Amino acid sequence: MNQVKSSDGKFLPSEVRMDFTTVNLALVNKYKIVLDAGHGGDDSGAIGPTGVYESTVNLAITLKVGTILNKNGVDTVYTRTTNDIPYSDDETKNLQYRCDISNAAKPNYFVCIHANAFDIEAANGTETYYYGGSAAGEKLAQAVQTEIIKATGKVDRGIKVPNYYVLNHTNAAAILIETLFITNPTEESLLASNSYQDLLAKAIATGILKTLGITNITY
Ligand SMILES: [Zn+2]
Repeated sequence: MNQVKSSDGKFLPSEVRMDFTTVNLALVNKYKIVLDAGHGGDDSGAIGPTGVYESTVNLAITLKVGTILNKNGVDTVYTRTTNDIPYSDDETKNLQYRCDISNAAKPNYFVCIHANAFDIEAANGTETYYYGGSAAGEKLAQAVQTEIIKATGKVDRGIKVPNYYVLNHTNAAAILIETLFITNPTEESLLASNSYQDLLAKAIATGILKTLGITNITY
């Protein structure tokens, strides 16, 4: 390559080198979230007064959350995308399977989505759990809880630290959202509604994205 001429006809020195970067950093997603739709398989979770399965509602909302996260350049890993789950006859094995997926994926956050249940139909509202002692988990739990209440106007039951298997056995900062009470007739019908699932999913995704520092959100 010692016969290369410059534009004015002079020979260039043989050692002309140009360095340029070929990696487009914008194509590499910075963040990853594991999304865990509660229950599934033989485990329906709680069942509403008219027979709506918690497992069905959880999955619908979870997939909608994932779609919004993907639109905003955040990678998602699901513990399930259908009603099928392994070990559905063994709760501990099934929960550990979900934790194993998260621990292998090494996400920024593990986000588990459920609906609440209580013996008294009047019980209502939203609460979000996090693994105690995790400042990152607490921050995400509060952000998601705040966005849900802002979107729904439902009763704010706050953020709490329970003793839950998936929160205790995931390495990532972890939260578990109890969207609404499926045992409450009004909230059951909202949970079963496609447009209300969209509303909840938008709120949950917004809380996650804002916590990641993404504020110019596409829905
Ligand atoms: Zn549940």
